[in-house]
Amino acid sequence: VSRVIPVETFDLVIFGGTGDLARRKILPGLFRRFLAGQMPESSRIIGAARSELDADGYRKMIADAVAEFGGEESSNTKALQTFLERLDYVAIDAKGDGGWADLAKLVRPDVIQAFYFSVAPSLFGDLAERLHTNGIATEHSRIVVEKPFGRDLASAHALNATLAEHFDEKQIYRIDHYLGKETVQNLMAIRFGNVLFEPLWNNHYVDHIQITVSETVGVTGRGAYYDRSGAMRDMVQNHLMQLLCLIAMEPPGEFEADAVRDEKLKVIRALQPIDNHHIVRGQYDAGPDSQSYREDVENPRSFTESFIAMRCHIANWRWAGVPFYLRTGKKMKARSSEIAVVFKDLGHTIFEGDEARHRNILSIRLQPNEGIDLQVTIKEPGPGGMRLIDVPLDMTFADALGDDAEEVPDAYERLIMDVIRGNQTLFMRGDEVEAAWRWTDPLIEGWEARNDVPKLYEPGSAGPEDAMMLLHRDGRKWRDIK
Ligand code: NAD
Repeated sequence: VSRVIPVETFDLVIFGGTGDLARRKILPGLFRRFLAGQMPESSRIIGAARSELDADGYRKMIADAVAEFGGEESSNTKALQTFLERLDYVAIDAKGDGGWADLAKLVRPDVIQAFYFSVAPSLFGDLAERLHTNGIATEHSRIVVEKPFGRDLASAHALNATLAEHFDEKQIYRIDHYLGKETVQNLMAIRFGNVLFEPLWNNHYVDHIQITVSETVGVTGRGAYYDRSGAMRDMVQNHLMQLLCLIAMEPPGEFEADAVRDEKLKVIRALQPIDNHHIVRGQYDAGPDSQSYREDVENPRSFTESFIAMRCHIANWRWAGVPFYLRTGKKMKARSSEIAVVFKDLGHTIFEGDEARHRNILSIRLQPNEGIDLQVTIKEPGPGGMRLIDVPLDMTFADALGDDAEEVPDAYERLIMDVIRGNQTLFMRGDEVEAAWRWTDPLIEGWEARNDVPKLYEPGSAGPEDAMMLLHRDGRKWRDIK
């Protein structure tokens, strides 16, 4: 029995359809959904970008992209051929009139229409406007916008206002691909589908929470963009804060887009201001055979952070007194994303001589090996007496699902199909994005005004020493990055 949920016929227009994101993620993902049977026969994908290509030229480009980035599935050449037949292309100028009449002829008004804005945010307004002046968009069309969504509250607010001139909030899908991960949805299933966890999910039982997103890559390739944003804008304001919201939110009344997003918004609004003492900014240094951050971005005086660690507090009854430690960085020792809920120590132990600190830790891994495990304490097997050890109760899907695990769609695939289905649950609402900037803006303004110099850290490490101290001072320790 197939577990794939069918979708209705759609026309998906990808503005920026020749770009890096489209070739690396969007189209290979769509091909996988096609293979899974989620693309009704009459559906079309229309690339729209500046390059002067015809439909065949575009099909050739996408065939190459799928071969390069599509994984094993790309060897299915017969299916790929059928998929390519559903592609079309228009050369279009977001800022001019060229190509719009051709696009209007291609997009059908009576099927689901989705317009993916995989272009620089400075073009969002032009695209939104021209979709209307050329009579292409209808009140049922959906638009998908990529990050970055602004670089502060003012720019995000302006972007929201521009989109709102042309589209209703119900039509706007702001992508944060972290929310498309299987594990993120599973986090909600674990919390709200079991009786075991939710009663413990508060300051009576939780000691603290850690969220780590570490990358091994530096900024090469997009240095100019990155140097103007930094880890706080590029990672914390969106991805880490979204994860924090899902962990910390109150149970929504139903699993419905606005019910979930209302609860996330309340978390962001309850975040307390942080003082500098609880923020550590870092910048990677040169390594034995790698360049420093400043060399990578070609800015010898850059004060931008490629690493940040911080301690946050949520001012509400559930979380009063529970620190949330966030950290993210580039050129770290491993590529890993994890949320760890560290429960409190036992109040009293009955096991004489057991000096170790046994703790229950619920670890939610987004990469690598998406999955969830719960560290529990058991008796060490064998005749050694009452010796206790900690073992993981592993809920990794690859093991639980066996061969079916391959069918689990990746984040982009899932999110695009949610757009077609009209389900906004895993997309950020405009007010959420603005609330997040409202919290990060004063912090960023603070260090910019002081010319705060980030601490250097060794490439391949876990970040600057001060980040370790942030937890040591509280008698705690970061989890290993592995
Ligand atoms: P890219 O530079 O590789 O591609 C840009 C695309 O926009 C091209 O197809 C180009 O033809 C088109 N374009 C540019 N000017 C145009 C105009 N005036 N009219 C019509 N089309 C025009 O960029 P990318 O890396 O694919 O990124 C696209 C968007 O996605 C950006 O906003 C970026 O910040 C965001 N994003 C990218 C990634 C990634 O991994 N590449 C990840 C997250 C977010």
